[in-house]
Amino acid sequence: MNIESVQVELLKVPANMMYEAAGHAVSHNWHILSRIVVEDGTEGIGWLVNTRPAFINSLYEATKELGDLLVGQNVYKNEYLYELMNSYGNWVGPGGFLNMAISSLDVAIWDIKAKLANESVSDLLGGHSNSVGSYASDRLWYSMPVEELLDSAKQHVVAGHNRIKLRIGKVDNISEQINRINSLRKEYEHLEIMLDATESWNLSEARSFGEALSKAGILWLEDPIYHLDFKGLRELKENLSVPIAGGEHLYTFESFRDTVDNSSLDVVIIDLSRVGGVTPWIKVAHMCESANILLAGHVLPEFHIHLLSAVTNGYLVEDMPRSANITKSRLQIEEGNMLVPQGPGFGIELDEDACLEYKVR
Ligand SMILES: [Mg+2]
Repeated sequence: MNIESVQVELLKVPANMMYEAAGHAVSHNWHILSRIVVEDGTEGIGWLVNTRPAFINSLYEATKELGDLLVGQNVYKNEYLYELMNSYGNWVGPGGFLNMAISSLDVAIWDIKAKLANESVSDLLGGHSNSVGSYASDRLWYSMPVEELLDSAKQHVVAGHNRIKLRIGKVDNISEQINRINSLRKEYEHLEIMLDATESWNLSEARSFGEALSKAGILWLEDPIYHLDFKGLRELKENLSVPIAGGEHLYTFESFRDTVDNSSLDVVIIDLSRVGGVTPWIKVAHMCESANILLAGHVLPEFHIHLLSAVTNGYLVEDMPRSANITKSRLQIEEGNMLVPQGPGFGIELDEDACLEYKVR
C-alpha cells in the first residue's frame, strides 16, 4: 500500500493556563502534526508537542523534507522507511533534532498500518493489556501555591486518578516540599504521589533530599540528577528506598543500553518524540524488558497508552492533556487506570476546526 501524500502542519495551540516549567514560561503547546495518506484514502496522523518555540520552525521544515521522501513508498515497510529518513539526515544525528523530525512521521505510519488492519495500534504491537496504570501530571507545577495544588489534586481525583506527580526543581529546604506532599496526603489519603526533580540537584543534594523523600513515602523520584550521570543514578538507586525514574531526556539506543547496563534506573520513562517514533520505542521497550525494568511514557498519552499496553513491562502512562484543544476524542480514566482506546489506529479524532484555527504554517 503506497503513500500518496504527506502533509506537515505547525500548530500554535494555547495552553489552558499559563505556568512555569523548567524555568520557562509556558503559554502555548506547539504541535508538529503529520498526516500521511495512502492510495486507498486511509489517513494516518502523528504529532509531537513542545512547550517552547525554540527551533520549532526548523523542526517543521525538517519534518516536511523527510515527509517528501516517503511519497510513493510502501507504508507497511516501517523499518525501511525509518532507515530512509534516518540515513538522509544522519549528518545532524544521531538522536536529538533528527529523531524529533522523524517521530511524527513514524507515528503516522503506525496509525495507518493499524487502520489498514482494522486494529488498534496496541493490539497490532502485541496487545498485552486493555488498560495501563496512569497518573495525572497537569497543573501540578512548582510555581503554584499549595492552595492551588490542592484544588488541582481535587480535580484529578474527581476525574478518576489516584496518582499525581509534583515538580520540585531547585530547592534549599526540602522540608517545605515535604509539607506540600503532606498537605495533599492529609486531604486525599489514598493518593499516591510521585516527584519530578527535573535534574535540578547535584549528587550530594540528591543524596540528602532523596533520603528525606524516601521517608515521605513517594511512589518514585524522577530525574534527581543529570540524566547521563549513570554512575550517580545507580548510587542513588542502590542507597535510597524510593524507586528512581528517568529516561525522558534519552534519545539513542546507546544511551538506553547504558542505562540498562549500569542498572541506573528502576523505571525507564521513554519519550516517544525524542526516541524517534514507534519503531525505535518498541525496541527500547524490549531492551528494558530483558532487564526486568518497568516502563512509563513521557507526555503524549494519546500515543503512549497504546505502546505501554502493548508490552509486558508497561507500568504507568502520564496523563498530560497538552493536545486536548485539538482533539475530539477523550482518554478514559477509571480508578487510576487509563483504558486503551479501541482504534482503529490510535483511535484519535482530530478537531479539524481547531487545527485550522491554530495552524500557523
Ligand atoms: Mg520529567
